[in-house]
Amino acid sequence: MTERISTPSKTKQIIEENHFTFKKNFGQNFLIDSNILDNISECADITKEDCVLEIGPGIGSLTQVLAENAREVVAVEIDRTLIPILKQTLTGYDNVEILNQDILKTDIDAIIAEKNNGKPIKVVANLPYYITTPIIMDLLEKKRHIDSITVMVQKEVAERMQAGPKEKEYGALSIAVQYYCDANLDMIVQPSCFMPRPKVASAVITLKVLPQRKVITKDENLFFHLVKCAFGQRRKTLLNSLNNQGDLNLSKEELTAIITSLGWDERIRGEALRIQDFAILTDAIFDKLH
Ligand code: SAM
Repeated sequence: MTERISTPSKTKQIIEENHFTFKKNFGQNFLIDSNILDNISECADITKEDCVLEIGPGIGSLTQVLAENAREVVAVEIDRTLIPILKQTLTGYDNVEILNQDILKTDIDAIIAEKNNGKPIKVVANLPYYITTPIIMDLLEKKRHIDSITVMVQKEVAERMQAGPKEKEYGALSIAVQYYCDANLDMIVQPSCFMPRPKVASAVITLKVLPQRKVITKDENLFFHLVKCAFGQRRKTLLNSLNNQGDLNLSKEELTAIITSLGWDERIRGEALRIQDFAILTDAIFDKLH
């Protein structure tokens, strides 16, 4: 095995030799613990069959481990000052392609088509924390051919992804993740495993994309619209949230009738509803509108 990029001394050396300065606005906290990197690759179940999309390779610490375990790695990095560094640190790995792009503007479907014949890829990343939710939502909502997503995120965000009704962290992200995936919290990672150290604890979570959605609804767009409304104003009742923000062309009386016809108290809050309840509500509203 070649020398690890991820040791504290090697990372420091690479940074100093290249006069690299960390950019806070890109969420740059590099991993400097080789065991954590091995664990991430293991949790993602990377084998020589796999094509992996890595988001934000930094100086290549995780990329190196992925390249050793996968058939092919495509790593998308927004910071152009890291590209020459990556070319140097990953010399010798001919199964890695580096793209200098913003992941939110990257044609991921084209990568899947070109690199994996359209078959599902695995996504692995130590995510930039400032855009965790947009990245996850983009990967899930666009229904890309993805087998699983194994990511380092803030511990609190991992908790949100797994939260259920009435829990403090329960929200639109919980529903979206649980609608498309089975989520498994792999490990908690302390700030001391990063350079520079983030202020909060992190967690690695694996989202295994389900072959079918967790629940079936008559209108998926309406389902997510209702979820966003219900959690948009958490202190409001479901009825008031839908009435004020729903844009559903239904009167308050009609919405009340729908809610009570489902056997719910008209003062119920969105945060009390399970994913199945949102599906039932969607169908009831859909039927009323059609
Ligand atoms: N993978 C490296 C590691 O574990 O040491 C670096 C992880 S660091 C938390 C996040 C990386 O994502 C940084 O390299 C940052 O420049 C990059 N990044 C930030 N925003 C990005 C975006 N929109 N698209 C692609 N990469 C991005």
